[in-house]
Amino acid sequence: MSSNIYNEILTEHNIRPEFKYDMEDADIVLEGVNPSCGDNIWLKLKLDGDVIADGSFIGTGCAISQASADIMLGMIIGKKKDEALQMAELFMKMIKGEATDEEIDSLEEASALKDIAHMPARVKCAVLGWRTLKEAIDNSL
Ligand code: ZN
Repeated sequence: MSSNIYNEILTEHNIRPEFKYDMEDADIVLEGVNPSCGDNIWLKLKLDGDVIADGSFIGTGCAISQASADIMLGMIIGKKKDEALQMAELFMKMIKGEATDEEIDSLEEASALKDIAHMPARVKCAVLGWRTLKEAIDNSL
């Protein structure tokens, strides 16, 4: 995919985020902050046993942090907690520039953020949602 398509994916998730809304009856609510950019999210998850049954986020921050959280929720809803953790690890690996092409492909829409590996200042923005997810799941185990 060209970088234009990646930009379109990020723009689309900023203009029309699918999962950016408040969830009243979430089982897990966790705040994630990235002071270096001023990004802030509240991640909200509903669990059904080991499965992430539903999720949303609210927050403010740069386009990358908000788009990344929205993309993440689209990937993890309906997945088991350990599957979501594996995706989070893979995402971190991609952002560090250590993932193989195959691993990057397996990240579906989140692969739109792979070029962040070359933008150290934006890394914390891109991983904010995933880092918060990992912490939320770790806390719930
Ligand atoms: Zn940011």
